[in-house]
Amino acid sequence: TYVITQPCVDVLDRSCIDECPVDCIYEGERMLYIHPDECIDCAACEPVCPVEAIYYEDDVPDEWAEYTTFNTEFFEIT
Ligand code: SF4
Repeated sequence: TYVITQPCVDVLDRSCIDECPVDCIYEGERMLYIHPDECIDCAACEPVCPVEAIYYEDDVPDEWAEYTTFNTEFFEIT
């Protein structure tokens, strides 16, 4: 799955939402979240993010690793 990280906070550009073919990007209060079970790993969202907040799960920078957890918590997936 792809994960949205820190640069999205308080930006919420939403370009990614228009690109996602399966509409699995949802809006939270301060950032957007990708539903881990719905994402098909197509990578379409990654290049359109103006703040480069989107990473493939294995490529999330260490300093933003917690965003993978924030993501599953948002959807209450354990
Ligand atoms: Fe949507 Fe594809 Fe991005 Fe997953 S990788 S969130 S399916 S655009």
